[in-house]
Amino acid sequence: MRVLVTTAWLRPGDHVDRLLREEGFEVVHSSFADRHEPLTDLVREADGIVAGTDAFTAEVLAAAPRLKVLGRTGVGYDNIDVPAATARGIAVCPTPGVNRRAVAEHTLALMLNCARLLPQNIQSVKSGGWEQPSGRELAGATLGIVGLGAIGKAVAELGGVLGMEVLAHDPYLDHDYAREAGIHAVPLDELLRRADFVSLHIFLDASTHHLIDAAALALMKPTAYLINTSRGGVVDEGALANALSRGELAGAALDVVEVEPLPAGSRLRELDNVIVTAHIGAATTESRARSGQMAAQAVIDVLNG
Ligand code: NAD
Repeated sequence: MRVLVTTAWLRPGDHVDRLLREEGFEVVHSSFADRHEPLTDLVREADGIVAGTDAFTAEVLAAAPRLKVLGRTGVGYDNIDVPAATARGIAVCPTPGVNRRAVAEHTLALMLNCARLLPQNIQSVKSGGWEQPSGRELAGATLGIVGLGAIGKAVAELGGVLGMEVLAHDPYLDHDYAREAGIHAVPLDELLRRADFVSLHIFLDASTHHLIDAAALALMKPTAYLINTSRGGVVDEGALANALSRGELAGAALDVVEVEPLPAGSRLRELDNVIVTAHIGAATTESRARSGQMAAQAVIDVLNG
């Protein structure tokens, strides 16, 4: 049986490759970065796939008649047509929980970068300057978490350790957890009005698409920062660029954007008060090792019955 590996950071000879080969599978690697043929051609002979953020549309899945399982290195389903996979009897197996700490630490890094104006200051020193602007401390600031799931909880814990007041909005809030962790549950509009840092940790689906639109951004304080390490489509980027360019927000830090990689002409490249990282929230050695192992094991378990 053949397993196709499309996750870009999984390479021939690594732990996942060895694990799959030890089970007797033929392993083919093809990531978006080095691929020449369309995904529809690549999947034709695959019995199993280990995949990252490639788009597995109904068309791609229809081109894979032998496919039984798709191990997703990550937690988002938004790149996979799950109903089409289910209709074809293809098991979709993400790797929940393995990257919560990595994404939470990246979220903290983005907040600190915003709070201390680090990107601007580093750039200024590199170009010969020596500016000393006033940043702000996270201690005593209010952190508003939208989506108190695995990653949201890890971010709340880090915020609590730093002495931040933590607010959370989640329609399915774990009230016992929130109470014990000293997190205040509030409606979304109150969170947006009160938070100094609004951090998004929700899945992208029809109900959360552009949840943060012009009206939501207008509720935020002009001194507040928006941090997004969830999915780009949760934020209306046009409305965000407008708010940032008019100084209606202090800044934004985005690990995810609506179109990835960020298009050359995006307004977000022009604005000084926005930081964009290349969807690296989960990109730690530790998180990738766990995620690759879990996705490959799911493929092995399904193919071995
Ligand atoms: P999770 O399922 O554990 O948590 C999501 C939470 O959002 C749940 O508690 C749910 O009740 C809540 N929620 C749903 N709809 C909501 C709404 N309208 N408003 C507020 N809360 C709502 O998921 P997770 O593992 O914590 O992942 C969160 C997000 O992080 C996902 O979008 C995922 O794709 C993204 N993610 C990004 C990276 C990265 O590299 N940047 C890595 C992993 C995950």
